Amino acid sequence: MTLLERNGQHPASPASVPADATAMVKVAAALGIPTVWDRLAAQEPHCGYCSLGVSCRNCSMGPCRIDPFGEGPQLGVCGADADLIVARNLARAIAVGSASHSDHGRDILEVFEATARGETSGYRIADEGKLLALATEWGIQTEGRPVGEVGVELAEAMFEDFGSRKTALGFTSRVPQPRRALWDRLQITPRGIDRESVEMLHRTHMGVDSDYTNMLLHALRTSLSDGWGGSMIATELSDVMFGTPKPVMSQVNLGTLKADAVNIALHGHNPLLSDVIVQAAEDPELIALAKSKGANGINLVGLCCTGNELMMRRGVQMAGNHLMQELVMMTGALEGMVVDYQCIMPSIVDVAKCFHTQVITTADKAKIPGAVHISFDPANGLAIGREIVRLSIEAFPNRVAARVNIPSEPVPMMAGFSVESILAALGGTPKPLVDAIASGAIRGAVGIVGCSNPKVPLDTSSVGLAQRLIENDILVIVTGCAAVANGKAGQMLPESAAKAGPGLRAVCEALGIPPVLHMGSCVDNTRILVLAAALAKYLGVDIHQLPLAGAAPEWYSEKAIAIGCYVVASGITTVLGVQPPIFGSPKVVDLLANGLEGAVGAKFAIEPDPEQAAVVIRKHIEAKRQGLGLPFIEESQIQAAEPVHA
Ligand code: SF4
Ligand code: SF4
Repeated sequence: MTLLERNGQHPASPASVPADATAMVKVAAALGIPTVWDRLAAQEPHCGYCSLGVSCRNCSMGPCRIDPFGEGPQLGVCGADADLIVARNLARAIAVGSASHSDHGRDILEVFEATARGETSGYRIADEGKLLALATEWGIQTEGRPVGEVGVELAEAMFEDFGSRKTALGFTSRVPQPRRALWDRLQITPRGIDRESVEMLHRTHMGVDSDYTNMLLHALRTSLSDGWGGSMIATELSDVMFGTPKPVMSQVNLGTLKADAVNIALHGHNPLLSDVIVQAAEDPELIALAKSKGANGINLVGLCCTGNELMMRRGVQMAGNHLMQELVMMTGALEGMVVDYQCIMPSIVDVAKCFHTQVITTADKAKIPGAVHISFDPANGLAIGREIVRLSIEAFPNRVAARVNIPSEPVPMMAGFSVESILAALGGTPKPLVDAIASGAIRGAVGIVGCSNPKVPLDTSSVGLAQRLIENDILVIVTGCAAVANGKAGQMLPESAAKAGPGLRAVCEALGIPPVLHMGSCVDNTRILVLAAALAKYLGVDIHQLPLAGAAPEWYSEKAIAIGCYVVASGITTVLGVQPPIFGSPKVVDLLANGLEGAVGAKFAIEPDPEQAAVVIRKHIEAKRQGLGLPFIEESQIQAAEPVHA
């Protein structure tokens, strides 16, 4: 099924597939270039065993699979049943997701330490105030000491969090006391970032943890080592090195490409290299080189979360999210696709071969055959950034003018909502937000996070869900590819307050903010944790008592599973829009959808239809309001809206 055919899959969604994507899918079809949707169609129908999570290839006595109809084998060769196999598969995915974020965090930490020692080129401590505040939080003496020395000591303390000799990670001091006590009781307080992922993998080896509940409890602990560990270190130190985001205007969609410029897309997740490329693209010598090749300058655009990092801090324009990475090349106007790691489809080199685009990999841990590899080295960051920009400029004369097809005008959007900037907008205290929630002007807040997935019509669930929530006076916070989707839909401007219900609209208009706030990249979901913890501490309650929810309507990645787990383990119920491979075990499904609530005060729900997901979330938020003694809407009064589209 093509993207265009999938467009009709959620007839109730108020959103539709963006025009720039549909235009470029048509170009791909006309040129006979396969895209992610074609490859998905070739894979369908997917294997039923794998979709249910009941296949296992963890050892060479297998592979094994459990017959979900009860007629064939009910045990693997080792004796593992469906519950154990499903739990093991899920736990492994959570370990991979956590390890990915946390390895990203370690990369940032290494460059931060080298920068603090003065051993890098192109990097600096951009936010000294945040560095000193973090050092104080971590118990490091700051008074009268050079900033670099404080930075080195902070880095050493944070490196300790990756090891195995601690009882709790440093940032768990931010967690409200009742939640910390709960984690201690459940023995899921994260102790070491690497330790939890390694132990998770150990437990899933044949013959180790054979109790699916015990296995999944450790999976929660592993995810917490991501959310309150590796990802949080990544976010906080990226702010220190590149600046803590403040509200900034930018633009989004394929219209951000310029027909007369050298266009370079920065794709992946880690801002380390892309930030120096931004500096390199401003080099007068390189701009002159671009002009000597016939271009009218150099134009940088972002993709996925590298794009989010750059937009949040520097206002760099965003070409698109995950599923746009092939389509951006169909414009015929992209000279360089510079990638770091995560969510980069190997297929991009095949698409690039059909155009003049130069694909440049930069992380030694993430090479792609067919791409040019330029190894990132922070000691020579700026020189490497210049080399990459130069290589992209050299591709410009190969552009075929007749094939250039930039399908849309860019849409303006506002980004840059760090916790610090939100509190600043509120006058330095969460009180105005708490008061608005208490009065009912704002019913609650929902984080819509995660990816785009070719199984879902592009952007429709992330946008449709946000639309229904803001209409019902629920503040929406977005990160990752969900943020890009909402930006493209025009929901992230101060003027978009007109789309919100009357209470939320009044608050947004008073503060000059959109009803859908961009909080950053996937690792920046930690900002949501920090904000939720600050609200809970302010009110003297635990996070699970707050009228909050999470949603990942179009998730695809193992990182998204880890995010969902740490959000739930932190006390925020989360609705998934894509079914995870767990339905081969009714017991695991019951544990995640019901049993978890008794343990951590939050649970998962699965609802692919964004209209129904909005109903589920609104009921949840009103129940939380009732629990806090706030005015609430009766469950029977909450229904799906009438579809607004034809
Ligand atoms: S671990 Fe058990 S279920 Fe998995 S492949 Fe080996 S024998 Fe089969
Ligand atoms: S939101 Fe998902 S698809 Fe998008 S960049 Fe993050 S992990 Fe990748």
